[in-house]
Amino acid sequence: MTSQIPDSGQFVLGNVRLHRSLTPGLAATFDADGFALADITVANGNISSVAAHKKSKALADAIDLAGRIILPCFVDCHTHIDKGHIWPRKPNPDGTFMGALNATGADRAARWNAEDVARRMDFSLRSAYAHGTKALRTHLDSVPPQEEISWPVFEAMREKWRGRIELQAACLLGIEGVRDKEWFERLAKRVAAAKGVLGVVTYMVPDLEELLDKVFSEAIKHGLDLDFHADETDDVAAISLKKIAEAALWNGFEGNILVGHCCSLARQPDLDVLDTLDKVAKAGLAVVSLPMCNLYLQDRRADQTTPRWRGVTLLHEMKARGIPVAVASDNTRDPFYAYGDLDMLEVYRMATRILHFDHPVGDWPQAVATTPAKVMRLDGFGMLAAGGSADFIIFKGRSWTELLSRPESDRIVVRDGKAIERQLPDYAELDELMVD
Ligand SMILES: [Zn+2]
Repeated sequence: MTSQIPDSGQFVLGNVRLHRSLTPGLAATFDADGFALADITVANGNISSVAAHKKSKALADAIDLAGRIILPCFVDCHTHIDKGHIWPRKPNPDGTFMGALNATGADRAARWNAEDVARRMDFSLRSAYAHGTKALRTHLDSVPPQEEISWPVFEAMREKWRGRIELQAACLLGIEGVRDKEWFERLAKRVAAAKGVLGVVTYMVPDLEELLDKVFSEAIKHGLDLDFHADETDDVAAISLKKIAEAALWNGFEGNILVGHCCSLARQPDLDVLDTLDKVAKAGLAVVSLPMCNLYLQDRRADQTTPRWRGVTLLHEMKARGIPVAVASDNTRDPFYAYGDLDMLEVYRMATRILHFDHPVGDWPQAVATTPAKVMRLDGFGMLAAGGSADFIIFKGRSWTELLSRPESDRIVVRDGKAIERQLPDYAELDELMVD
């Protein structure tokens, strides 16, 4: 199949299946699952047209893809590639959130020099690229002295990957770290110098409102977007999502705000939930759920009994209110999640099962494409449209049930009109980083 995609010039991919939610310009008849048969013309690395499928003479030379699904390349808006793949040397002892936090903190202090971070990051990016991801935001643990190590590594990695993966970074620290105002101001300055995003982890501390004000004022001062981890717990008293929305409103914040996790919201009484969602919508927050990581960490029971809830937040209720919602990879093979490979098809498949992105599918595919692209301010990413670059993934599946039932390991990733080499990195490459 790969060999059928020409290396250059103009060609037509005929008889392909495109989804309504990801092809804004396509005038065609869509079926109940949102698909229509179409023809894509590629010229010199760009999409020159996307049109309803025609069996005309002009298309006689088209490559007939027999109804296979094509999706735009993925946008993964919440990852931790600075933590990725440390599992072999630092597993989570009990699968809990605290176990993850402590194990990762110890590993960071002992092992995260620039070379270690860079090699694991590059490994992660090669996986993401091979699976069809075009843009990725990572959080960077920025607890002293790690910020001085990881941010220069990120800057170099962003350069190295430019044109293949648009890489963004947000700093990551517990909200209590903001109490050291001088240090936090220096961090915000460093993040701004790297054109990064300001991020913190929020949980219930007595001075949460005051600390959030400091975060917002630094973001406003430097013109930074914000990215929070909020309420990654089953504790119904955890309402930092609401506090973030309130802080955004009273600070008159105009940048983009992405909030991840928000697990506790799914455990709270309906009236409280409605109040929070009103504020989140009014404040213009976007929310990303991390279904695989949340399934792994939430409701983990010390007595080895069975988990009773899925850990994800209320994406359907948010979407119904017009709150932009996304799903993303989060952690990969580190103490926060023992598995994962930055494959956004896997994320979408798992989200479909855990969060019911089906019956109807509606515009849920935007949650791994257009919506995170907007949050990340990436024009033209996450959609297929004439004039855009020819960056897409050709799958074997011809329907949702075919697409989401197999790993699609033989998918074809086309970048700038050419099929890329899809070689996943070998785990053995990292072996020497895993020894004591
Ligand atoms: Zn995260």
